[in-house]
Amino acid sequence: MIEIKDLHAKVEGREILKGLNLTINPGEIHAIMGPNGAGKSTLSAVLAGREGYEVTGGSVTFEGQDLLDMEVEERACAGLMLAFQYPVEIPGVKNVYLLKAALNAQRKARGEPEIEAPAFMQLVREKLKFMKMDNSFLHRAVNEGFSGGEKKRNEILQMLVLEPKLAILDEIDSGLDIDALKVVAEGVNSLRAANRSILMITHYQRLLDYIVPDFIHVLADGQIIKSGDKSLALELEEKGYDWLLEGTA
Ligand code: ADP
Ligand code: MG
Ligand code: MG
Repeated sequence: MIEIKDLHAKVEGREILKGLNLTINPGEIHAIMGPNGAGKSTLSAVLAGREGYEVTGGSVTFEGQDLLDMEVEERACAGLMLAFQYPVEIPGVKNVYLLKAALNAQRKARGEPEIEAPAFMQLVREKLKFMKMDNSFLHRAVNEGFSGGEKKRNEILQMLVLEPKLAILDEIDSGLDIDALKVVAEGVNSLRAANRSILMITHYQRLLDYIVPDFIHVLADGQIIKSGDKSLALELEEKGYDWLLEGTA
């Protein structure tokens, strides 16, 4: 699905990613953990193609294509989707409108016709129900006045409607109470499919009780310094990151 090789990236002239390697196959869920400031959000931003991040070395291949050569919209249409750690508010744009526009842009890129209004509404209502969100969320401006938990649910709602090939979730668990965490986790688990991959970035082991990854990686100081299976999360929970950092600095 995606192959990241020796990726280097700068933010505001400072090198944050320092030779990162990661390969994710279709159907796999990978989790990235790591201390604050390690570069986790920078990695997700670079993959999504956000402005202000300068790639200074390495390569990223997404389904055989050079991802770094693609515009933000092209990446989205190709099936790479990022749920932000801090979802943006878009005043004046209704949630339902954004969902429909995004879905139709994706269909257009694939040469498919626009979705008919009744089919779209049926799809969206079904997904809203799954995320335990009220229909009124459709007619509110995107994320405006949403609580932290509602924003995170809304991010997953977008994924359920748009069905990305690679979903990147940056700290989707931060600020969620346990009930909201379960709903969000169920949403993510329902995305699990043989032809889809998920990259979860999280600070806490707790999320991984609900969404069980196939692989866990520790990102520290711009590099992946350790990889393992789900038991690594428990080890990190118990011992912290310091034992891994010793000798790497
Ligand atoms: P993490 O998500 O692992 O906590 P980040 O990727 O957000 O870490 O940040 C890594 C480093 O890059 C931090 O030192 C942070 O201050 C810096 N950084 C990230 N984004 C920006 C930005 N937009 N402007 C300036 N510095 C940034
Ligand atoms: Mg952080
Ligand atoms: Mg972050």
